[in-house]
Amino acid sequence: MGGMYPVPTSLSPSRVEAFVSCPLAFRFASIQKLPEPPSPHTTKGSLVHRGLELLFMQPAAMRTLPAARSALDQAIAEYRVDPEFTLLGLTEPQADAFFADAWSLVEGYFAIEDPTAIHEIGLEIRLEAPIDGFSLRGIIDRLELDAQGQFIVTDYKTGRAPSERYQQNSLSGVHFYSFLCESVLGQRPAAIRLMYLRTGEVITARPSAQSVKAIMGRAKAVMKAVEQACTNEDFRPKEGALCKSCAFQPWCPAFGGDPTLAAVEAPLRFGMPART
Ligand code: SF4
Repeated sequence: MGGMYPVPTSLSPSRVEAFVSCPLAFRFASIQKLPEPPSPHTTKGSLVHRGLELLFMQPAAMRTLPAARSALDQAIAEYRVDPEFTLLGLTEPQADAFFADAWSLVEGYFAIEDPTAIHEIGLEIRLEAPIDGFSLRGIIDRLELDAQGQFIVTDYKTGRAPSERYQQNSLSGVHFYSFLCESVLGQRPAAIRLMYLRTGEVITARPSAQSVKAIMGRAKAVMKAVEQACTNEDFRPKEGALCKSCAFQPWCPAFGGDPTLAAVEAPLRFGMPART
C-alpha cells in the first residue's frame, strides 16, 4: 500500500539538512507545504541578498558604497509591500532598526571585498540537476570567473559564522553547489566561498571529485530515507536546537501537540495560504 504522502521530486541542500534535523518538521514544511510565518532573520537575509543583486546589476566600476545604498533602498521599497516583511508586523521604530541592520550587513560586505574588481557571470542562478530519479536544486548567489578563467561560487551569509562543529554541515551545502555547477554548467568550481557579512569571515572550500561524490552519496541516502518515510507515513519528531524557532511546535507530539490538526490550523493561525 502506498503512503498518503507524495515523495518529493526535487530537494535543495537546505531541505536535505531539514529532513536530517527533524523528519516531522520536514513533513510539515516540504511535504504538506504548510505555511510558516516569516522570521526577521530570513527576511533580512533575503532583503540583503536582493540589495547586493541590484548592486551587481550595475557595471563593475559603478559598484560604490553610495550605489549600494541606492540598491538597498530599492530593495527596501520592494520589501515594504512584500508579505515576507509585512507579516513580521514590525512597528515603525522596529522597521527602522531592521533596515539599519540590513545596511550594516551591506557595509560589512564592502569590508570583505571590492565589488568593482569582481568579474561575475551570473547572479541568483537557479540550477537543477538530476540524480537517481530525483533532482537536486539550488540557487547560487553569485558565479564569477577568477584570473585563470575558473568558476568561483560566492554564497552570502547574513547569520553568524558556524562554529567548528557546524562547519561541516554548512560546507556540505557547498559541495552541493559544486555538484550543481559541474552537472549543469560542465565545470567544477575551483572554489566556493561562504561570505559572512556580519563578521567579515570568509570560509573557502575547494571541492574535489571526491568531496562531490561523498555528498552525492549522502543526498541519495537521505532521499531514500525520505521515500521510506513517505511510504510508511512515518515522520518522527526529533527534538533539537531547531525546536526553539520551529513554527510547527503547536502540532508537535514532542510538545504535546496533535500533528493531524496542523493542515487545518496552521493556515488559520499564520493567516497565509499553504505554500505551493
Ligand atoms: S518542535 Fe522540534 S521536534 Fe517538533 S517538529 Fe519542530 S523541530 Fe521537530
